[in-house]
Amino acid sequence: MAKGFLLVLSGPSGSGKGTVSAALMEQNQEIQYSTSVTTRPPRVGEVDGENYFFKTKEEFEEMVAQDQLLEHAFVHTNYYGTPKEFVFQQIEKGEIVLLEIDVQGALQVKNKYKEAVFIFLLPPTMAELKQRIIGRGTETPEDIETRFTNAFKELDFVGEYDYFVVNDKLEQAVEDIEHIIAAERLRVKRKSDIKKSLVEKGEI
Ligand code: ADP
Ligand code: 5GP
Repeated sequence: MAKGFLLVLSGPSGSGKGTVSAALMEQNQEIQYSTSVTTRPPRVGEVDGENYFFKTKEEFEEMVAQDQLLEHAFVHTNYYGTPKEFVFQQIEKGEIVLLEIDVQGALQVKNKYKEAVFIFLLPPTMAELKQRIIGRGTETPEDIETRFTNAFKELDFVGEYDYFVVNDKLEQAVEDIEHIIAAERLRVKRKSDIKKSLVEKGEI
């Protein structure tokens, strides 16, 4: 069996990471979502253990001290991080693990895991990005400004990623990511000893 891999999805707040991930996973049940920990308070409708594991700052710091996080970062005004254990278990099982994380976290992952795949999600225009952040209706005007200002800084890092996907029409964005996954699965480096399998076992 081929080993699984990390699929890192980043993009400015409002670019549609949550929406695209949900649609992608609905149509591809083999993709496992890595639920992050955060010190951000839950939004209306968010469920602990589903959207995030919501933690106090002290609990978060304890997880960092215990080396339980694959990466972590201070984003906008809160801490976020990826629990290690789940990710490694799933990769060993051959699964694709989706990490919806910011650029700082993505760079940490890139330094440690050469086989991860990095996708940057873009809005069709910056005006549309702002409208989507406002339209989501989950942030205060101050938070909206922070997120929109940070979007410009995050775009400086797009060159660190392997692929960009434009989230104009949702279905197209999901299809683009499915195509990236399909191509990544066919990378020779992800399949050990192709000749041996075919010649000795008679199949790939
Ligand atoms: P992120 O997770 O990147 O912060 P969200 O998934 O919360 O972004 O999306 C931000 C807002 O934009 C939400 O209100 C969502 O419904 C909307 N949205 C996402 N994708 C699209 C799209 N392709 N077309 C129109 N609206 C979208
Ligand atoms: P939000 O508060 O809108 O859910 O997320 C804010 C930002 O934090 C987004 O850019 C999101 O990708 C990022 N984020 C969410 N979870 C993690 C994580 O575990 N690690 C890092 N580094 N960023 C995260």
